[in-house]
Amino acid sequence: MLMPTTASEASILVIGGGIAGSACAIRLRQQGIAVDLVEKESFPRPKVCGCCIGVTGLAMLDRLGLKQFAKDRGVSTDRWCASMGGRRIEVPLPTGLAISRESLDPMLIEHAAAVGVNVAMRCEATVASVHKDRVDVRRNIAGSGDHQQSYSIVVVAAGLRAGGISRELPWTAAPHGPFGISFLADVRDVESGVIYMACDDDGYVGLVKLADGRIDVAAALRSGAASNGIAPVERVRRLLERSEFDFSSIENASTAMTTPPLRRSRRVGNGRLMAIGDAAGYIEPFTGEGMTWALQSGVAAADVIAEHIHQPASVGDAWQTRCLTLLAAEKRTCRWVTSALRWPLARIVAAGSLAMFPGLASPLVRGLNRSPS
Ligand SMILES: Cc1cc2nc3c(=O)[nH]c(=O)nc-3n(C[C@H](O)[C@H](O)[C@H](O)COP(=O)(O)OP(=O)(O)OC[C@H]3O[C@@H](n4cnc5c(N)ncnc54)[C@H](O)[C@@H]3O)c2cc1C
Repeated sequence: MLMPTTASEASILVIGGGIAGSACAIRLRQQGIAVDLVEKESFPRPKVCGCCIGVTGLAMLDRLGLKQFAKDRGVSTDRWCASMGGRRIEVPLPTGLAISRESLDPMLIEHAAAVGVNVAMRCEATVASVHKDRVDVRRNIAGSGDHQQSYSIVVVAAGLRAGGISRELPWTAAPHGPFGISFLADVRDVESGVIYMACDDDGYVGLVKLADGRIDVAAALRSGAASNGIAPVERVRRLLERSEFDFSSIENASTAMTTPPLRRSRRVGNGRLMAIGDAAGYIEPFTGEGMTWALQSGVAAADVIAEHIHQPASVGDAWQTRCLTLLAAEKRTCRWVTSALRWPLARIVAAGSLAMFPGLASPLVRGLNRSPS
């Protein structure tokens, strides 16, 4: 239920209108708190993503009043089909959703505006300076130049390129981490409702059919010398050719988008500043949970703001503590699975075990599809 805006000493800005930023702003409005949100692009905008949401993500969308909207624009998924260690394996999944980011992100930000968030599109923001009693933010609205505004709390939800927005939330550079790439294409023999994943030494590629019949192809590839000078799209094609799938016919591919090397922030909260979603640290895409965690961190950050609305100077430090415990077990599982899969022997053992006993995947699937707390 939407509460009327309450008078508070805090003025709040969310930088970035992706999934985390919109979720945070909507949740603040659900608690009657006024909030500005700026997004540098105009929507719909492309975004590197595998476009799959599991049970927990759908539950979070439900909390924000958007589950049915999303279901109407997506395709249900209920199977995971992988090629790894020289085998093809299939595991049933609890029903999730494949939805394009061109549908999901505008839906969230439009809902935010509808519930009273003060949204400015094509407006790029950076933190100019942090003071004891305020944060000064430089806002650049396309076509009308820079102007500065002060806020009592700033939430950075600017995704993987958030590193330059504030010196107070420094990033750890991990130049040898994987990088992301995605494009849309027509690929024959991709069944609706199945999430395909091919995995080998070069990284992993996921394919899923979207509501318009196009296939979202998204990959996380090793960066650095591993590329041998081969273009990322060609590496994706070769990875699929080496797989147990027969997806050699990739036609009408859209221009590929890539991410910078996936990396982490060193601090997610500091004084009056908070980072959420990918801006608080990337999530390996293998288990397909980045959007879910972006929604969860957006909602949790809004709750921390509501608790500290009268002590805004300590909200960032409270978030630093809360964020470390939020999703700690899920993140550990995700890191463990993705690190193990980089080893050829581990892939062979995992594939062999899952081919013989698909039920072995159940604890992992259950763990990753837990109801949100
Ligand atoms: C290859 C790959 C596959 C993936 N597959 C999946 C998947 O299947 N399922 C899943 O759940 N997750 C997946 N993810 C992860 C998921 O895409 C991200 O975790 C999720 O998008 C994070 O949302 P966010 O809101 O934090 O960031 P984003 O979605 O990146 O949103 C950030 C927003 O901030 C805006 N912005 C940036 N800088 C500024 C600024 N200075 N001022 C104003 N606005 C700004 C940007 O324009 C953008 O709209 C995948 C990721 C990769 C790389």
